Amino acid sequence: MSGGLPIRIIGGGMTGLTLGYRLAQQGIPVAVHERDPYLGGLASESSLGGVVLERFYHCVLPTDTALLALLRELGIDGDVKWNRTRTGFFHDGRMIEMTSTADFLKFPALNVADRMRLAWTIGYCGLRKNWKRFDREPVSRFLRRHGGERLFTSIWEPLLLAKLGQDYDRFAASFIWATITRMLSARKQRDRSEKLGSIKGRYGKVFVALRSAILSAGGEVHTSSVVSAITGGTDARARWTVHADGKALETRGVVLCTPAPVAADLVGPILPDVAALLRPIEYLGVVCEVLLLNRALTPYYVLNLTDRRLPFTGIIDVSNLAGRDEFRDHTVIYLPRYAVSTSAVWEMSDEALHKDNVAGLKLVVPDLSEEDIAAWGVYRAKYVQPIHGVGKGGALPPVQLAPGLAYLSTAQIHPWPVFNDAVVRHIDTSLNAIRVALG
Ligand SMILES: Cc1cc2nc3c(=O)[nH]c(=O)nc-3n(C[C@H](O)[C@H](O)[C@H](O)COP(=O)(O)OP(=O)(O)OC[C@H]3O[C@@H](n4cnc5c(N)ncnc54)[C@H](O)[C@@H]3O)c2cc1C
Repeated sequence: MSGGLPIRIIGGGMTGLTLGYRLAQQGIPVAVHERDPYLGGLASESSLGGVVLERFYHCVLPTDTALLALLRELGIDGDVKWNRTRTGFFHDGRMIEMTSTADFLKFPALNVADRMRLAWTIGYCGLRKNWKRFDREPVSRFLRRHGGERLFTSIWEPLLLAKLGQDYDRFAASFIWATITRMLSARKQRDRSEKLGSIKGRYGKVFVALRSAILSAGGEVHTSSVVSAITGGTDARARWTVHADGKALETRGVVLCTPAPVAADLVGPILPDVAALLRPIEYLGVVCEVLLLNRALTPYYVLNLTDRRLPFTGIIDVSNLAGRDEFRDHTVIYLPRYAVSTSAVWEMSDEALHKDNVAGLKLVVPDLSEEDIAAWGVYRAKYVQPIHGVGKGGALPPVQLAPGLAYLSTAQIHPWPVFNDAVVRHIDTSLNAIRVALG
């Protein structure tokens, strides 16, 4: 790596670390600053009852080609374990298999006309290559228009609630176009079409590998390094200073890899116009309980729910994806509640959430007892999925904020749901723009 001042990257999640690795590969000095004592942000790990697990569930799709290529470069692609998983719907008090297209077409809540309309809606999205025409209409209006009310309430709405929470209509139909396009391209994969991947030893392995690749290329990675301010940028060479850990650190350039409101706070005092662009970007967050169980719960990786009494939006059983042996022979389930920042769910205590969730789980699995629960924990993240709003997908925040100062985050990814393959793709296609921004 050539010497000189480093480019300082703020945020040690998937975006900041992958960008750090890509720049370091090109011989550019980098230093990544992560606020938390651990790396990985939303994909980081924690431990519950002595078992290491991810704060939020993560799987790999066979079509995640950019992510898989990165894992190959890092020498950890062999750690992706592919498994055939099952999906279910909890409907009318019972669990129904919904793994294959044939299962969907047999779903008892649908009549022949609904099934044809389901095939039509999927085909309509699948045949169109451009998301822009889908961006002007709220997602539920589009789905009702093409599929009718019964199909909407029995299939589409549970799926929207599971992914986007109660406020799904703040998203455009381009979200469903992207989801269907991703699903159809997975089905085209020959040998792995029905399979999902998990990383043996958890997603944390990716961040260990990225960190050591950055260090081997001569870069730096700092954890517990909270960036509190950015100053400068006014001299002829547009040099910025990053303030972290009580020190003023010189830079050759800065890239903010944090959610938009965090970036807005950091640039607000120096670039109020830029902050005014970033601050209004809203996010869907998630409050997610994780339960470690001594028994098997369902055969499904994902159980979608049509029963509106249930307080969570799905049951994700990662032990049905990765295997119970990954979790010291426990079942690990996640009970997410996706919520906008004004939702009352953010005010609920962990204990109240747990009580509410266990009562809900007993509606699905009536013989579940308190003794089955070995440990539980609640994880919260306010900034998960940017909400660009209906018709707003064309106006994403720019990469270059000012000479020497750049921004790269999931807020620039649209209409794809937030997942790491899209993150890696976004970085790879933005590298030139980053280099131009940093001069
Ligand atoms: C419930 C859930 C399920 C998911 N499932 C999947 C899945 O199955 N597959 C998949 O591919 N993806 C999945 N994802 C998405 C995946 O987690 C994200 O794509 C990815 O983590 C985004 O990384 P990021 O670096 O852009 O953001 P973040 O992870 O939010 O990273 C931003 C980082 O910036 C740091 N930071 C903030 N402020 C400062 C500061 N002042 N100074 C220094 N550092 C700071 C934060 O601590 C954080 O580490 C899921 C996410 C969630 C929440």
